[in-house]
Amino acid sequence: MSFITCKSSEMDKNQASSRILELRAVLWENSRRYYVDNAPTMSDFEYDRLMRELGDLEAQYPDLITPDSPTQRVGSDIDASEGENAEPETKHDFVRRPHKYPMLSLGNTYSISEIEEFADRASKTIGNGFTYSCELKFDGTAICLTYRHGKLFQALTRGDGVIGDDVTDNVRHISNIPQALSGTGWPDEFEIRGEILMPYASFDRLNKEREAEEQPPFANPRNAASGSLKLLDPNEVARRGLMCTLYHIPSESVSFPTHDEALTKAASWGLPVSDKRRICHDINEIEDYISYWDTERKALPYATDGIVIKINELTYQSVLGYTAKSPRWAVAFKFKAEQALTPLRSVSYQVGRTGAVTPVANLDPVLLAGTVVKRATLNNDDFMRELDIHIGDWVYVEKGGEIIPKITGVDVSRRSANAQKPDFPTTCPDCGTPLIRPEGEARYFCPNVDHCPTQAKGRLVHFLSRKAMNVIAGDATVEQLYNLRLVRTPADFYSLRKSSLLALEGWKDRAAQRFLDSLAASRNVTFDHVLFALGIRYVGESTAKAIAQHFKDIDSIIAATREQLLEVADVGEVIADSLIKYFSDPANIEDIGRLKAAGLRFTMDEAAKASEALEGKTIVISGNFSISREAMKELIESNGGRCSGSVSGKTDYLLAGTKPGPEKIKKATELQIEIIDEVQLRSMIPMPGSSNGDATMTDIEETEPTLF
Ligand code: NAD
Repeated sequence: MSFITCKSSEMDKNQASSRILELRAVLWENSRRYYVDNAPTMSDFEYDRLMRELGDLEAQYPDLITPDSPTQRVGSDIDASEGENAEPETKHDFVRRPHKYPMLSLGNTYSISEIEEFADRASKTIGNGFTYSCELKFDGTAICLTYRHGKLFQALTRGDGVIGDDVTDNVRHISNIPQALSGTGWPDEFEIRGEILMPYASFDRLNKEREAEEQPPFANPRNAASGSLKLLDPNEVARRGLMCTLYHIPSESVSFPTHDEALTKAASWGLPVSDKRRICHDINEIEDYISYWDTERKALPYATDGIVIKINELTYQSVLGYTAKSPRWAVAFKFKAEQALTPLRSVSYQVGRTGAVTPVANLDPVLLAGTVVKRATLNNDDFMRELDIHIGDWVYVEKGGEIIPKITGVDVSRRSANAQKPDFPTTCPDCGTPLIRPEGEARYFCPNVDHCPTQAKGRLVHFLSRKAMNVIAGDATVEQLYNLRLVRTPADFYSLRKSSLLALEGWKDRAAQRFLDSLAASRNVTFDHVLFALGIRYVGESTAKAIAQHFKDIDSIIAATREQLLEVADVGEVIADSLIKYFSDPANIEDIGRLKAAGLRFTMDEAAKASEALEGKTIVISGNFSISREAMKELIESNGGRCSGSVSGKTDYLLAGTKPGPEKIKKATELQIEIIDEVQLRSMIPMPGSSNGDATMTDIEETEPTLF
């Protein structure tokens, strides 16, 4: 993705419009990775920075705001994509139910001065006679509980804010959530909202188990909590050691003068309400609370990522009201990612499946955000030079969104006089081949693509991985099969016999059967994933999909010229050259032939329909949308519609985005064809993830947001 580099304040409207589309695409993609896959690849800080940039641009050009912008809607945890979740045992088809009151997000900031601005804004509207409830911002996944006649009746996730997944059965297995209330005075029916958390101790145990079972570990306790809440088996949920903390009762549910009193009462009914909140009277008290918890939170047994500051008096809350996405009576102050300082013991160099060599820092073990860190990435040779890193240096380590922590700085003042710089190797640490650094690349590569064992094993691991062939097998299995020369290329997997596996060390009947069953099931993996699984350099998941959809089958891709490959929207010169190189290698063609013979799918099926809402409708699209035009076409077709290139008497709608073609508008007007925009189109089709197709964009706009 090529980002426009000028500052948002210097952009003209056209530049702003392109940048807005670009930012929306990046934010929605990362939102999906975060909420649905539970596997973020961007740090929260970076995500929030991009969100702010989008918000600033939209504030500058309000007519470019669309209701489906990430600034206007909460990120959705509803999985509309079957099979994308981090855990295969995760359920995709929870019953979805509407929230009585929408569950919104929170405005957030990393700066105290913006908290002051929040306070000033509030006092302009409600005067000075109010207090703040300051609370920890628990870093888990939001939950909405309903108690009816004193018994737990329902538990919904936040979902898309309007509709949530019904996870009641799973929530009943979280030990600190009472099935029945104690005390007296609870209303016959009320809602209470809070967070499901995975304490660090449960998180460490779970990740150790996952590593032992060769499953990918969770990046952080938040993702682990969110993934666990959506498991198929409630007993497994019970084993995960989740906990709940509650922080909000919608004022429609119970009537108390203040938020704090409502929570105190809820605690008396046996509900798990945090006792760490404090009533503050001014910004100084808020600052004290923030700085106290910025340090003390490190001793808590669960993750927190900030402080929430809420106007305490419920009448003032209702005066302040809501934006489309968050309450105006609350704001979150987010802590910057935690850093740790520790000595660098040595640097090792790892070869990846593409041959890229990554330097890895080996550190004195240090506690960081609840887990012990021993290794961190140093990215590449240039980065090491920029840091001017020396062995023995005290280095700063930080965790981003990724599981792998990174080195962010060096405390040069503690460097010893005779400290040595690490030497970046000149030959591959695995096969000894001299490394190369292609022009324009920040990394060194081992060019021995075919015979460097690490690269070959890396490709096999990639082939089996969840987003590729989704075969249940870990790196150790690949290592063993490769080292024993049983598997050298992907096609070899499909020739394995149970008897050969059982003859190997550590294989029992059940494991062998599970592996073979999983390989057999991978014959149903769709062509785009198979293409991705081949591990062609630069061909990521979405590029593989675009290529598969464009050419429909492998033979057409193999036969395609460079020019034909360049016709695919996602394919540029580098990718086209990489495809040509890959398919001109007879060994690859031979392996593809064997994979075909093994029954893998090398042809694109007709896309499964999301709905028939646009059945029989011919739609012409023109202009730019919040998603690419190709994705918009797909959206229309997956809902039964047909896309046509030109407006004619047979056209039902002209879908006009920003900057539609004037000729098309003119023709549609002459022919009296209805011109609709993206919002209208989306209101005609079921929202992704809504099971019954009832919730549409119009529903969201018309629902009065009352609570989060
Ligand atoms: P949020 O997590 O910033 O804040 C809102 C949430 O805070 C509420 O929904 C609630 O679940 C929670 N919360 C915890 N303690 C609370 C308390 N005491 N009172 C009230 N609420 C409390 O907002 P969000 O909409 O859930 O997520 C947006 C954030 O998620 C972004 O700001 C970003 O940091 C992160 N995110 C990151 C990525 C990524 O790729 N890294 C992607 C999407 C979102």
